[in-house]
Amino acid sequence: MKVIEGIRPIKEGIRINDNNQYAEAEGFVHRVRDMGKFSFIVLRTSRNLIQCVVDSEKCEIAKTGVGNGINEGDCVRITGIKVIEPRAEGGFEIHANKIEKLSQAYAQPPVNITKHKIDSSLDVLLENRPVTLRHPKERAIFKIQEGIVRAFREFLHEHDFTEIHTPKTTSAGAEGGANIFKLDYFGQSACLAQSPQLYKQTMVGVFGRVFEVGPVFRAEKHNTTRHLNEYISLDVEMGFINGMEDLMNLEVLMLRHIIQSLKENYSKELDMLKAELPDIGNVPVYKFKEAKELLAKEYNRKIGGNGDLDPEEEVLLCRYAKEKHDSEFIFITHFPSSRRPFYAMDDADDPGFALSFDLLFRGLEITTGGQRIHDYNAQVEKMQRMGLDPSEFKHYLLIHKHGMPPHGGFGLGLERLEMQLLGFNNIRYASLFPRDVKRIAP
Ligand code: ATP
Ligand code: MG
Repeated sequence: MKVIEGIRPIKEGIRINDNNQYAEAEGFVHRVRDMGKFSFIVLRTSRNLIQCVVDSEKCEIAKTGVGNGINEGDCVRITGIKVIEPRAEGGFEIHANKIEKLSQAYAQPPVNITKHKIDSSLDVLLENRPVTLRHPKERAIFKIQEGIVRAFREFLHEHDFTEIHTPKTTSAGAEGGANIFKLDYFGQSACLAQSPQLYKQTMVGVFGRVFEVGPVFRAEKHNTTRHLNEYISLDVEMGFINGMEDLMNLEVLMLRHIIQSLKENYSKELDMLKAELPDIGNVPVYKFKEAKELLAKEYNRKIGGNGDLDPEEEVLLCRYAKEKHDSEFIFITHFPSSRRPFYAMDDADDPGFALSFDLLFRGLEITTGGQRIHDYNAQVEKMQRMGLDPSEFKHYLLIHKHGMPPHGGFGLGLERLEMQLLGFNNIRYASLFPRDVKRIAP
């Protein structure tokens, strides 16, 4: 038996030899253009499109007829000479000596993925997702998504946070409300996690600072352009805070790092999608009450409502932040306590309001966060006040009983952040395989 020594190095689907003269690229035949004596093959590697020139007299497989033998969708490995060509993507092309055909495609793509842009409806795009994701612009969206998560992790690791993985099948929903997916768990009623909230707090009692990147399930019954039924939540929870401002500062610094890292490492994809990244300076902060007054004064909105901001108000507040503070972000803090969950800490100076915040970006809520109750008696008392039975939270309350630092955190919706960064009018564009009321496949 042969001992495996390592994986052959490759970068973005291509190996280049030491003296920068030969290249070996592997990928999918994206496009073939037969020019008679020679042909062009555009190879789609893991991140790039590479132009390969195939001279039928010089290339090994060419003898069997490149035009006929190699077709769009086939998987090939092409070896040849690396030649500078400013007009080609990446500034070079490969003059092929050898083409290995590794597999064959049997059908034409249902939509043309070689055009500049896929020009079909969202429905067709999603219905054919396994193929449409191969379009360079479609996959760029998810390369950027990788970049966001990577920078998120990087930033938090640097700041002493530990990455955790909490269960997604649970006995009770963390957030309450109607949007819980119920589950039959071997005869016992259970649900899919609406948020890692209670577990991430539990882990603050272990590591002090934690974060998680994981799916969150919400049975949102209405099909909106900003809700998915399964999304990725970037969750942070931090112990030993002096107040919720620590959390807001952390989030701003984190977002700055994400934007910087995208600029440095994903400019190719950002250009392809014509993304306009925001500058994140000082983010204005308004209390919920002030925000409502401001909406009434500036935009004639009725004060009242349900103790939350509606989508139109989110848009108006962002417009205000842009005009008044030149910021594409705005924090709204101190939401009515009655609208926030049982673990939210109330403001000691104004007990009707919770120490919680939302971050709005370009007209949409992307984050909710806040300080949590850490004192055992205070938590039990709030549960009782809200008509909850503390004995149903016996595992959760162990953390308070055995000592918890002042702490808090936030949840950032990955697809929401991305849809706003890239200017999509529908969150589904920012999800690989979106789940909504009507769609659970592919
Ligand atoms: P909204 O009021 O916009 O429905 P929410 O306040 O119910 O959202 P939270 O419980 O505060 O949502 O969740 C934290 C973050 O997770 C939100 O700020 C958002 O970025 C994201 N999020 C929440 N629900 C969804 C969803 N159904 N699809 C995609 N992202 C979501
Ligand atoms: Mg919220």
